Amino acid sequence: MLARLAKLLRPRQQAPAQPLPPHYIGAKWPREVIRVRIEPSPFEGEIREAIGNWNAVTRPFGVRIVAGARTRNHRIPARRDGESTIYLSPATPNFADVDVSRRGSTIIEADMRISEQRMAPLTGSRRRIIIEHEVGHMLGFGHHDGPEDSIMHSRLPLRIAGITDFDRAAVAAVYSRK
Ligand SMILES: [Zn+2]
Repeated sequence: MLARLAKLLRPRQQAPAQPLPPHYIGAKWPREVIRVRIEPSPFEGEIREAIGNWNAVTRPFGVRIVAGARTRNHRIPARRDGESTIYLSPATPNFADVDVSRRGSTIIEADMRISEQRMAPLTGSRRRIIIEHEVGHMLGFGHHDGPEDSIMHSRLPLRIAGITDFDRAAVAAVYSRK
């Protein structure tokens, strides 16, 4: 009886608030479905694999990236404002990089540019790792200096195999706050 009373009087437990990860840029996608256009590229396989690996982590929070593609024979219309695209660009000095457009704390567009010249000599798995890192930027994460095996580590070390528990926790912290 006393034990039961004590149980009733105990304050109701609340789920502990997860602190936002240090590399969260302060903006996230507002929708469940993030639409991304993939322009013709020899790396489409790696791009789709990287997106699939992130979707496996974000799907429990109702967020997923849906990638559409245009065939090589199809005329590619100009990129529109508000349309996220993954495309080859000789202009990027990096292997790949991402531009995130945001309005306040809402991401409205994220474009990934990939250097065909720099990526071509790499192995497919190395390309996939780099693209997976860039998809992390598209989702609203920057770099961190935490666990070195994380896909979003600032130095993107060579031994990274993919998305880690650290990255899963970051997704949970950001995307479970709807
Ligand atoms: Zn980066």
